[in-house]
Amino acid sequence: MKPLLIDGAWQRTSHGVENVNPSDTADVIDTYAQAGVAETQTAIAAALAAAPEWGLSAPLLRHDILRRAGDEILARREELGRLLSREEGKIAREGIAEATRAAQIFHFFAAEALRLSGETGASLRPGVTVEVTREPVGVVGIIAPWNFPLAIPAWKIAPALCFANTVVFKPAELVPASAWALADILHRAGVPDGVFNLLNGPGAVVGQAMLDDPRIDALSFTGSQATGTRVAAASLPMMRRLQLEMGGKNPLVVLDDADLDVAVQCALDGAFFSTGQRCTASSRLIVTEGLHDRFVSRLTEAVSALRVGHALEDASDMGPVVSEAQLQQHLAFIAQARAQGGHLRTGGEVLRRETAGFYLSPALITETDPKMTINTTEVFGPVASVIRVRDYEHALAVANDTPFGLCAGICTTSLKHASDFKRKAQAGMVMVNLPTAGVDHHVPFGGTKSSSHGPREQGGQAREFFTTLKTAYVQP
Ligand code: NAD
Repeated sequence: MKPLLIDGAWQRTSHGVENVNPSDTADVIDTYAQAGVAETQTAIAAALAAAPEWGLSAPLLRHDILRRAGDEILARREELGRLLSREEGKIAREGIAEATRAAQIFHFFAAEALRLSGETGASLRPGVTVEVTREPVGVVGIIAPWNFPLAIPAWKIAPALCFANTVVFKPAELVPASAWALADILHRAGVPDGVFNLLNGPGAVVGQAMLDDPRIDALSFTGSQATGTRVAAASLPMMRRLQLEMGGKNPLVVLDDADLDVAVQCALDGAFFSTGQRCTASSRLIVTEGLHDRFVSRLTEAVSALRVGHALEDASDMGPVVSEAQLQQHLAFIAQARAQGGHLRTGGEVLRRETAGFYLSPALITETDPKMTINTTEVFGPVASVIRVRDYEHALAVANDTPFGLCAGICTTSLKHASDFKRKAQAGMVMVNLPTAGVDHHVPFGGTKSSSHGPREQGGQAREFFTTLKTAYVQP
């Protein structure tokens, strides 16, 4: 059984849960110790006790630890990427790319630890100087989803440690193996006792115990809107600092003047790569009528050609969905879209493969209306819908007609429309002639409207959440 990491010690528990491969349910990766409320409270106490010393630690110490962690992840990216794919189901080259990205994130924040500086200025009063410095926030709780089991924890844990906070990390139930591997790497990279704690376990128990504990000063959460709303409701009465990254219903607008090859590739990648299980997935394809039929026909061909199979087989273009529950939910969304008048062009069928897994052929639904459930609710799987629109203005209005605001894309050769879309799309990230999913790690990530709340993640901007400002007035 793989233990928890609390206060620098590996801890077993009486209860463990098997981690099952979604490509092959007969393949059990390992059994993972499950934390309860008591372990959660012990981990929070350890993080609190470690905070004063770590908060004043030398930046070079933090740099070296993060650097070592990044170096090891990079050196082991093939193995870690394949482990990730085995537990989450994205194909191996996507898993390896994610492991590489996690390493890059650790390297980025290793350097940021040395870059942290403040400002000195003159006061309004003669002889007085003003210093503005950044300090750690304290104990940071991190609650992560299952779809990027290494990259999302990395882009929360690395800046938290970089800026001298202590961490209590709760990964999603479906992906304990990647989280455990990351904890093992950080432990051996030299993170002091109590500074980083790993709690595998159920959200309703471990996550809830974290929410209920006022000793957690800041909470960085990525997951569904429903859970994010709970996190906010529990945290606001404590005045806890919050960072929430939640769902999306991201539009990809395709105009008549688009390069058809580019548009089809953007839609294929944005909607279906990583099995469509990306918060930035292009789930609404909004296409002007001059190109609509040709676009749909080309995209249908490309989607039908995707080979769905075991995540670790080289021949697979797309792996299984992550769980039986997700599979059933996707089938229900597809059935509802058809009942509401959508036309299932391709896919949407449960597939049998040599091993028993949660295989679903990628689904493309056309003739949909913006108000249909398939266009208003996040599916979070390999399902995309097409909405036919008259012109650019119509497309923009449909793209923005959603409570979500994570990412928005446009395929066009018109500079005028691309520029207008960049300005008017109601989203935290905008892509022009690129898939909506697939972002760089060194620039801000996050959305608007109900997709996100709080300061942006990633890049230099990450310091806004993970530090607090102090203004000191000094009269020598
Ligand atoms: P989820 O909300 O079910 O779970 C997220 C995390 O919250 C898990 O670790 C879970 O155990 C925990 N949790 C559940 N109940 C809790 C409670 N009562 N208290 C505290 N924690 C609790 O989400 P998921 O299914 O793991 O992930 C899918 C969602 O994540 C999608 O909506 C997707 O769009 C979103 N997502 C967003 C981003 C982004 O950056 N915007 C990135 C990836 C995924």
